[in-house]
Amino acid sequence: MRTFWRLLGFLRPYRVGVVASLVLAALATVATVLIPALTGTAVNAIEDGDRDALVAAALLIVAAGVARLVLTVLRRLVAGRVSLGVELDLRDAVYGHLQSLELAFFDRQQTGQLMSRATVDLQSVRFFLGYGLVFMMQALLTIVMAAGAMVILQPGLAAIALIPVPFVVWVAYRYGVKARPAAQEVQQRLAELTAEAEENISGVRVVKAFSREGRQLARFRRATERVFAQAMRSTRIQAGYSPFIGFLPQLGLAAILFFGGRRVIEGDLSLGDFTAFYTWLLMLLGPMRMLGMALGMAQRATASGARLFEVLDTEPRIASPADPAPLPDGRGRVELRGVTVRYDGAAEPALRDVSLDVAPGTTVALVGPTGSGKTTLVQLIGRLYDPVEGAVLLDGADVRTLALEDLRRVVATVDDSPFLFSATIAENIAYARPDASREEIEDAARRAQAHEFIARLPDGYDTMVGERGLTLSGGQRQRLAIARALVADPRVLILDDATSSVDASTEALIKAALAEAMEGRTTFVIAHRLSTIALADEIVVLEGGRIVARGTHDELLEVDGLYREIAEKGLPDQVFLTRNPPEREAAGL
Ligand code: ADP
Ligand code: MG
Repeated sequence: MRTFWRLLGFLRPYRVGVVASLVLAALATVATVLIPALTGTAVNAIEDGDRDALVAAALLIVAAGVARLVLTVLRRLVAGRVSLGVELDLRDAVYGHLQSLELAFFDRQQTGQLMSRATVDLQSVRFFLGYGLVFMMQALLTIVMAAGAMVILQPGLAAIALIPVPFVVWVAYRYGVKARPAAQEVQQRLAELTAEAEENISGVRVVKAFSREGRQLARFRRATERVFAQAMRSTRIQAGYSPFIGFLPQLGLAAILFFGGRRVIEGDLSLGDFTAFYTWLLMLLGPMRMLGMALGMAQRATASGARLFEVLDTEPRIASPADPAPLPDGRGRVELRGVTVRYDGAAEPALRDVSLDVAPGTTVALVGPTGSGKTTLVQLIGRLYDPVEGAVLLDGADVRTLALEDLRRVVATVDDSPFLFSATIAENIAYARPDASREEIEDAARRAQAHEFIARLPDGYDTMVGERGLTLSGGQRQRLAIARALVADPRVLILDDATSSVDASTEALIKAALAEAMEGRTTFVIAHRLSTIALADEIVVLEGGRIVARGTHDELLEVDGLYREIAEKGLPDQVFLTRNPPEREAAGL
């Protein structure tokens, strides 16, 4: 119920529209309820042979009909605006809030599901707030007015005729609660089927090459069977409820014909009044059904609202402090003091009591086996995650005291699979600083060794890339990402596996780009290639979330067995893959 009231809160900016549509609905209802009364008058006029009264009644019926038509058109327009406005607001609120949440939230949630659920839930909330509420009021009003008129005219008869009303409303409500979700499930299964078909067709080369047509067909078959089963479920619900919604009121109509008709025969009731009575009951059928449906809508909207509020009520765990400290001057000194990091739900900490002090302008290479905590360590600097213990300092300030925008403006990351947005190359490079001039963009691209290939593209810097644009090679994407980082001109540059997907011919180019990028700023580089590691002033060796050695290349050759192994074999990727973290080794894995 609280959720329900909170949902109504979204109507506040649309007060005028809501009131207007309620007034329009009420007026339309009056016109509607008048029609049976006028019909009764007309029938009485026929019986009395009163031509003038008949003409008047007929004209009034037309007038009431026209009034109803106009009022309904207006109401739909107004309600439509309210509904779409609410949808817009809700969408902004939900997506805006998602943006404010920290990375760890997205680790916990399945983003795709979150989005699709948000779409469905948004729909059901907006539909109820925009239309359902007015339907409900209108239906209720119609029922009350018509029933009132019937009771005034013939209380006894009204009592009999109105018996089915609550049942119809209840059946329609149950139907609304069950049928809609079942129909949505069918849509979901269909979407899965489409995805399956799409995969079969786009993967046809592999399917044929391994002659797995049979297996694919079987998978497809299972997907179609799921659609069938769900559609049958939906059909059974339809079959079980809809006919009753029509049947129950017919009992009321039969009762009226029987009891009311007898009174007309006995002369207790005029034929006109009887007709009016009968028509009111007929007229109630729609609203009864509508009321039930609207109640179902309300029920669904409340459930959907609860899910939306669940997202909206999730407080961001990583946010700018209320009173952020100004970004201190400096050239990118990075200090980790006794830092321990534990991911949600992880049994072991990803970093244990790590301390590291990196002087401004130096390049530090992080090496270590997969899962040793290299990425975790660098993500702390831009506060993508917070440590559970210890502190991270940038130029002397604890990163938790800084505004996130300030902090992230001076820390830039290039990772192993740079993401390109569906935009032009220039826009992608200028992502961190949309106001960057074309000269700055080109300069960054030159330094990232990307200018040459960009200049050769059909539209140069205005070539569309990303999902709906030109596909670039791994090395090209990497260089674009480096250019993107350079435009931001950060104090701290993080290159996390930034050269992993690059072949030997572009490696030289990337290396030149990296050397350029590192110039004059603190750089953390995570790499498997010795040639890249050699660019560093200092090397830090991580294992199982701990720093196990640090020093220059030559020093480490002397003291660290793991590092010597890497250097001698010259195939660090494989060395790393065969080394187990100590605790795994201890467990005999
Ligand atoms: P590296 O970059 O050295 O390969 P990571 O820092 O990515 O290592 O990972 C360190 C440990 O933390 C690993 O055991 C990894 O499985 C875990 N880990 C990394 N990211 C997450 C995450 N988002 N959620 C949970 N555990 C994670
Ligand atoms: Mg990593």
